[in-house]
Amino acid sequence: MSDETILVGDVRESAKKAAQWLVNRKPIKNLIDWGVSFSLWPPHLTTSCCGTEFGAFAAARFDSERFGVLPFSSARQANLLVIEGTMTRKMARAAKIVYEQMPEPKFVIAMGACSLEGGIFWNSYNTVLASDVGIPVDIYLPGCPTRPEAIARAILMLQKKIRNQGTISK
Ligand code: SF4
Repeated sequence: MSDETILVGDVRESAKKAAQWLVNRKPIKNLIDWGVSFSLWPPHLTTSCCGTEFGAFAAARFDSERFGVLPFSSARQANLLVIEGTMTRKMARAAKIVYEQMPEPKFVIAMGACSLEGGIFWNSYNTVLASDVGIPVDIYLPGCPTRPEAIARAILMLQKKIRNQGTISK
């Protein structure tokens, strides 16, 4: 009998499945989740005046990079969509397109009274709530405007949620 190993079937496909199985096992999965939680990159998408508060969160005083949050210009490298306040129907379509371009795993924070329940535009014909855009929202953040400190807290909660596989309370 020869010492040669005979491999039967699609080796590349099996290797892919084995690698996938491995990254979903506990120590490696935890390490990946930890890395993702400190690599949250929101694309530049300002829907309304809450955007200036997010700008303040990214600027020197609050320094979003301390939390691993780096505002990024391309949706294809971003993984955190922040809906910043009021969203018109037109912007809601744009937000959905940006969300669909982002790679998995991806997360959404909706900030500001306007995106949560309409705020001062509650009876406007052309505004859409974050919950009606058709994308899953992870964290709802109230306030008008939502202060940068509150955004920092939402980021900490989201990081906890990512590390605890979907629960914030652990
Ligand atoms: S919640 Fe207030 S600050 Fe934010 S978009 Fe609405 S009106 Fe502007």
